[in-house]
Amino acid sequence: MVVNRLRAGVSSPYKQKEKEVLEMAVFKCEKCGATKEGRCKPKKCPSCGETGTMKKES
Ligand SMILES: [Zn+2]
Repeated sequence: MVVNRLRAGVSSPYKQKEKEVLEMAVFKCEKCGATKEGRCKPKKCPSCGETGTMKKES
């Protein structure tokens, strides 16, 4: 029972970190290779200005 308690205490801060990572994603331009971090997919590449080339990288 003591082990279970310890595990619960360790897992909660980890879960919070994972959530933060999930909210942010990296998008990469297929044309020029520029990357942009954001919560949602950018319509336009911030570097070359091309539309529809931003693809989620990870
Ligand atoms: Zn680009």
